[in-house]
Amino acid sequence: MIEFKNVSKRYPNGFEALKNVNLTIDQGEFVAIIGLSGAGKSTLIRTINRMHDITGGELVVDGTDVMSLQGKELRRFRRKIGMIFQSFNLITRTTVIKNVLTAFVPELPWWRATFGIFKKEEKIKALEALDKVGILDKAFVRADQLSGGQQQRVALARTLAQNPQIILADEPVASLDPVTAKQVMDDFLRINRDMKITVLLNIHHVDLALQYATRVVGIRAGEIVYDGPAQEVDQKV
Ligand code: ADP
Ligand code: ADP
Repeated sequence: MIEFKNVSKRYPNGFEALKNVNLTIDQGEFVAIIGLSGAGKSTLIRTINRMHDITGGELVVDGTDVMSLQGKELRRFRRKIGMIFQSFNLITRTTVIKNVLTAFVPELPWWRATFGIFKKEEKIKALEALDKVGILDKAFVRADQLSGGQQQRVALARTLAQNPQIILADEPVASLDPVTAKQVMDDFLRINRDMKITVLLNIHHVDLALQYATRVVGIRAGEIVYDGPAQEVDQKV
Protein backbone atom coordinates (compact mmCIF):
# COMPACT_ATOMS: atom_id res chain seq x y z
CA MET A 1 0.00 0.00 0.00
CA ILE A 2 2.71 2.49 1.05
CA GLU A 3 6.31 1.71 0.21
CA PHE A 4 9.35 3.87 0.97
CA LYS A 5 12.49 2.64 -0.78
CA ASN A 6 15.69 4.35 0.35
CA VAL A 7 13.81 7.60 0.65
CA SER A 8 15.57 10.79 1.60
CA LYS A 9 14.26 14.32 1.94
CA ARG A 10 16.49 17.35 1.84
CA TYR A 11 14.84 20.74 2.43
CA PRO A 12 15.88 23.64 0.17
CA ASN A 13 18.14 24.98 2.94
CA GLY A 14 20.17 21.75 2.74
CA PHE A 15 18.82 20.13 5.90
CA GLU A 16 18.33 16.38 5.48
CA ALA A 17 15.13 15.53 7.37
CA LEU A 18 14.81 11.92 6.13
CA LYS A 19 17.76 9.61 5.51
CA ASN A 20 17.50 6.32 3.67
CA VAL A 21 14.04 5.44 4.90
CA ASN A 22 12.77 1.95 4.08
CA LEU A 23 9.24 1.24 5.21
CA THR A 24 6.37 -0.85 3.88
CA ILE A 25 2.86 -0.42 5.21
CA ASP A 26 0.10 -2.81 4.21
CA GLN A 27 -3.57 -2.13 3.60
CA GLY A 28 -5.51 -2.01 6.86
CA GLU A 29 -2.59 -1.40 9.23
CA PHE A 30 -2.73 1.07 12.12
CA VAL A 31 0.74 2.55 12.43
CA ALA A 32 1.97 5.16 14.89
CA ILE A 33 5.13 7.10 14.18
CA ILE A 34 6.88 8.18 17.34
CA GLY A 35 9.98 10.23 18.04
CA LEU A 36 11.14 13.48 19.56
CA SER A 37 10.18 16.87 18.19
CA GLY A 38 12.23 17.53 15.05
CA ALA A 39 12.89 13.83 14.38
CA GLY A 40 11.19 13.93 10.97
CA LYS A 41 7.73 12.49 11.74
CA SER A 42 5.78 15.25 10.06
CA THR A 43 8.09 15.28 7.05
CA LEU A 44 7.63 11.51 6.63
CA ILE A 45 3.82 11.71 6.77
CA ARG A 46 3.67 14.68 4.42
CA THR A 47 5.71 13.05 1.67
CA ILE A 48 2.98 10.40 1.22
CA ASN A 49 0.45 12.78 -0.34
CA ARG A 50 3.15 15.02 -1.84
CA MET A 51 2.69 17.93 0.56
CA HIS A 52 6.47 17.58 0.58
CA ASP A 53 8.51 16.17 -2.31
CA ILE A 54 11.08 13.50 -1.59
CA THR A 55 14.55 14.21 -2.96
CA GLY A 56 15.97 10.69 -3.12
CA GLY A 57 14.78 7.11 -3.42
CA GLU A 58 11.33 5.98 -4.41
CA LEU A 59 7.88 6.26 -2.87
CA VAL A 60 5.10 4.02 -4.13
CA VAL A 61 1.53 4.40 -2.85
CA ASP A 62 -1.20 2.04 -4.04
CA GLY A 63 0.97 0.99 -6.98
CA THR A 64 1.71 4.56 -8.06
CA ASP A 65 5.12 6.23 -8.11
CA VAL A 66 4.09 9.32 -6.16
CA MET A 67 6.78 11.59 -7.62
CA SER A 68 5.58 10.89 -11.16
CA LEU A 69 2.15 12.42 -10.52
CA GLN A 70 1.23 15.84 -11.87
CA GLY A 71 -1.77 18.13 -12.13
CA LYS A 72 -5.08 16.33 -12.39
CA GLU A 73 -3.56 12.92 -11.58
CA LEU A 74 -2.04 14.30 -8.41
CA ARG A 75 -5.35 15.83 -7.35
CA ARG A 76 -7.16 12.54 -7.98
CA PHE A 77 -4.48 10.65 -6.04
CA ARG A 78 -4.76 13.04 -3.08
CA ARG A 79 -8.50 12.42 -2.90
CA LYS A 80 -7.81 8.79 -1.93
CA ILE A 81 -5.82 10.00 1.06
CA GLY A 82 -7.44 11.74 4.00
CA MET A 83 -5.28 14.22 5.91
CA ILE A 84 -5.83 15.29 9.50
CA PHE A 85 -3.87 18.05 11.24
CA GLN A 86 -3.22 19.06 14.82
CA SER A 87 -5.06 22.33 14.24
CA PHE A 88 -8.23 20.69 12.75
CA ASN A 89 -8.24 23.07 9.74
CA LEU A 90 -11.99 23.68 9.65
CA ILE A 91 -13.88 26.60 8.17
CA THR A 92 -14.72 27.93 11.60
CA ARG A 93 -17.47 30.40 10.74
CA THR A 94 -19.70 27.94 8.98
CA THR A 95 -21.75 24.92 9.98
CA VAL A 96 -20.38 21.47 10.58
CA ILE A 97 -22.32 19.92 7.69
CA LYS A 98 -21.09 22.59 5.27
CA ASN A 99 -17.52 21.88 6.36
CA VAL A 100 -18.04 18.24 5.42
CA LEU A 101 -19.84 19.00 2.16
CA THR A 102 -17.27 21.45 0.84
CA ALA A 103 -14.48 19.00 1.60
CA PHE A 104 -15.74 16.00 -0.30
CA VAL A 105 -17.76 17.21 -3.27
CA PRO A 106 -15.04 17.18 -5.97
CA GLU A 107 -14.45 20.43 -7.81
CA LEU A 108 -17.40 22.09 -6.15
CA PRO A 109 -18.30 25.32 -8.02
CA TRP A 110 -17.86 28.35 -5.76
CA TRP A 111 -21.49 29.42 -6.15
CA ARG A 112 -22.78 26.09 -4.84
CA ALA A 113 -20.61 26.42 -1.75
CA THR A 114 -21.53 30.09 -1.28
CA PHE A 115 -25.27 29.60 -1.62
CA GLY A 116 -25.35 26.21 0.07
CA ILE A 117 -26.72 24.37 -2.95
CA PHE A 118 -26.12 20.69 -2.33
CA LYS A 119 -27.79 17.59 -3.67
CA LYS A 120 -29.84 15.39 -1.38
CA GLU A 121 -27.46 12.44 -1.77
CA GLU A 122 -24.50 14.69 -0.92
CA LYS A 123 -26.21 15.81 2.27
CA ILE A 124 -27.03 12.22 3.22
CA LYS A 125 -23.41 11.21 2.69
CA ALA A 126 -22.21 14.08 4.89
CA LEU A 127 -24.67 13.19 7.65
CA GLU A 128 -23.60 9.53 7.49
CA ALA A 129 -19.96 10.56 7.93
CA LEU A 130 -20.89 12.69 10.96
CA ASP A 131 -22.85 9.76 12.38
CA LYS A 132 -19.79 7.49 12.07
CA VAL A 133 -17.82 9.75 14.40
CA GLY A 134 -20.73 10.30 16.79
CA ILE A 135 -21.48 13.98 16.15
CA LEU A 136 -24.58 13.83 14.01
CA ASP A 137 -26.36 16.05 16.53
CA LYS A 138 -23.85 18.84 15.81
CA ALA A 139 -24.48 18.96 12.05
CA PHE A 140 -26.07 22.41 12.07
CA VAL A 141 -23.88 24.00 14.72
CA ARG A 142 -21.12 26.42 13.72
CA ALA A 143 -17.74 24.67 13.75
CA ASP A 144 -16.14 27.23 16.08
CA GLN A 145 -18.73 26.50 18.76
CA LEU A 146 -17.46 22.95 19.20
CA SER A 147 -14.81 21.68 21.61
CA GLY A 148 -11.40 20.66 20.27
CA GLY A 149 -12.29 16.98 20.31
CA GLN A 150 -15.54 17.60 18.46
CA GLN A 151 -13.70 19.73 15.88
CA GLN A 152 -11.23 16.93 15.28
CA ARG A 153 -14.18 14.58 14.74
CA VAL A 154 -15.57 16.97 12.13
CA ALA A 155 -12.18 16.85 10.42
CA LEU A 156 -12.39 13.05 10.48
CA ALA A 157 -15.90 13.12 9.04
CA ARG A 158 -14.63 15.35 6.22
CA THR A 159 -12.03 12.82 5.23
CA LEU A 160 -14.39 9.85 5.68
CA ALA A 161 -16.91 11.38 3.28
CA GLN A 162 -14.31 11.21 0.51
CA ASN A 163 -14.00 7.42 0.98
CA PRO A 164 -10.25 7.42 1.55
CA GLN A 165 -8.09 4.31 1.42
CA ILE A 166 -5.56 5.87 3.74
CA ILE A 167 -5.84 8.41 6.54
CA LEU A 168 -2.70 10.35 7.42
CA ALA A 169 -2.78 12.29 10.67
CA ASP A 170 -0.08 14.74 11.72
CA GLU A 171 -0.22 14.98 15.53
CA PRO A 172 -4.03 14.67 15.61
CA VAL A 173 -4.33 14.69 19.38
CA ALA A 174 -1.44 16.97 20.35
CA SER A 175 -3.68 19.90 21.26
CA LEU A 176 -6.32 17.89 23.10
CA ASP A 177 -6.59 17.06 26.79
CA PRO A 178 -5.82 13.43 27.72
CA VAL A 179 -9.45 12.28 27.98
CA THR A 180 -10.47 13.86 24.67
CA ALA A 181 -7.27 12.59 23.04
CA LYS A 182 -8.30 9.04 23.92
CA GLN A 183 -11.78 9.55 22.50
CA VAL A 184 -10.31 10.73 19.21
CA MET A 185 -7.90 7.79 19.19
CA ASP A 186 -10.93 5.51 19.73
CA ASP A 187 -12.44 7.03 16.58
CA PHE A 188 -9.29 6.28 14.59
CA LEU A 189 -9.31 2.72 15.87
CA ARG A 190 -12.96 2.20 14.96
CA ILE A 191 -12.43 3.65 11.50
CA ASN A 192 -9.43 1.39 10.99
CA ARG A 193 -11.20 -1.77 12.17
CA ASP A 194 -14.69 -1.27 10.77
CA MET A 195 -13.86 0.44 7.50
CA LYS A 196 -10.48 -1.24 6.85
CA ILE A 197 -8.87 2.13 6.24
CA THR A 198 -5.11 2.25 6.65
CA VAL A 199 -4.21 4.71 9.42
CA LEU A 200 -0.80 6.31 9.77
CA LEU A 201 -0.38 8.91 12.47
CA ASN A 202 2.30 10.91 14.25
CA ILE A 203 2.06 11.07 17.95
CA HIS A 204 4.46 12.24 20.60
CA HIS A 205 2.58 10.56 23.46
CA VAL A 206 4.34 7.19 23.44
CA ASP A 207 1.79 5.64 25.80
CA LEU A 208 -1.10 6.45 23.45
CA ALA A 209 0.83 5.04 20.50
CA LEU A 210 1.44 1.81 22.40
CA GLN A 211 -2.15 1.55 23.49
CA TYR A 212 -3.75 2.01 20.08
CA ALA A 213 -1.41 1.17 17.23
CA THR A 214 -0.67 -2.36 16.13
CA ARG A 215 2.68 -1.27 14.78
CA VAL A 216 5.04 1.45 15.93
CA VAL A 217 7.75 3.12 13.87
CA GLY A 218 10.35 5.03 15.85
CA ILE A 219 12.27 7.77 14.10
CA ARG A 220 15.31 9.69 15.29
CA ALA A 221 17.17 12.39 13.33
CA GLY A 222 15.51 11.30 10.08
CA GLU A 223 16.29 7.61 10.44
CA ILE A 224 14.05 4.72 11.40
CA VAL A 225 15.38 3.28 14.64
CA TYR A 226 12.50 0.95 15.52
CA ASP A 227 9.81 -0.80 13.53
CA GLY A 228 7.71 -3.48 15.14
CA PRO A 229 4.81 -4.41 17.36
CA ALA A 230 3.74 -1.88 19.97
CA GLN A 231 4.36 -4.28 22.85
CA GLU A 232 8.11 -4.44 22.23
CA VAL A 233 8.98 -0.78 21.82
CA ASP A 234 12.15 0.32 23.50
CA GLN A 235 11.09 3.37 25.52
CA LYS A 236 14.33 5.08 24.49
CA VAL A 237 13.05 5.67 20.95
P1 ADP B 1 3.07 22.92 10.58
O1 ADP B 1 3.33 21.44 10.75
O2 ADP B 1 2.45 23.55 11.80
O3 ADP B 1 2.38 23.29 9.31
P2 ADP B 1 5.56 23.69 9.33
O4 ADP B 1 5.29 22.70 8.26
O5 ADP B 1 5.65 25.12 8.98
O6 ADP B 1 4.51 23.55 10.54
O7 ADP B 1 6.89 23.29 10.05
C1 ADP B 1 7.09 22.00 10.61
C2 ADP B 1 8.37 22.04 11.46
O8 ADP B 1 9.50 22.39 10.67
C3 ADP B 1 8.33 23.05 12.58
O9 ADP B 1 8.94 22.47 13.71
C4 ADP B 1 9.11 24.21 12.06
O10 ADP B 1 9.71 24.91 13.12
C5 ADP B 1 10.12 23.55 11.17
N1 ADP B 1 10.49 24.40 10.04
C6 ADP B 1 9.64 24.91 9.14
N2 ADP B 1 10.31 25.64 8.24
C7 ADP B 1 11.61 25.55 8.57
C8 ADP B 1 12.82 26.08 8.02
N3 ADP B 1 12.83 26.84 6.92
N4 ADP B 1 13.98 25.78 8.60
C9 ADP B 1 13.99 25.02 9.69
N5 ADP B 1 12.90 24.49 10.26
C10 ADP B 1 11.73 24.76 9.71
P1 ADP C 1 8.74 16.23 13.71
O1 ADP C 1 7.44 16.09 13.02
O2 ADP C 1 9.30 14.91 14.14
O3 ADP C 1 8.72 17.21 14.83
P2 ADP C 1 9.59 17.55 11.28
O4 ADP C 1 9.38 16.55 10.20
O5 ADP C 1 8.60 18.64 11.42
O6 ADP C 1 9.81 16.79 12.66
O7 ADP C 1 11.00 18.23 11.07
C1 ADP C 1 12.19 17.45 10.92
C2 ADP C 1 13.36 18.37 10.80
O8 ADP C 1 13.30 19.06 9.55
C3 ADP C 1 13.42 19.44 11.87
O9 ADP C 1 14.75 19.61 12.26
C4 ADP C 1 12.85 20.67 11.20
O10 ADP C 1 13.38 21.84 11.74
C5 ADP C 1 13.32 20.47 9.76
N1 ADP C 1 12.40 21.11 8.81
C6 ADP C 1 11.07 20.96 8.74
N2 ADP C 1 10.55 21.69 7.74
C7 ADP C 1 11.60 22.32 7.18
C8 ADP C 1 11.73 23.24 6.10
N3 ADP C 1 10.68 23.65 5.39
N4 ADP C 1 12.98 23.67 5.80
C9 ADP C 1 14.03 23.25 6.50
N5 ADP C 1 13.99 22.40 7.52
C10 ADP C 1 12.79 21.94 7.87
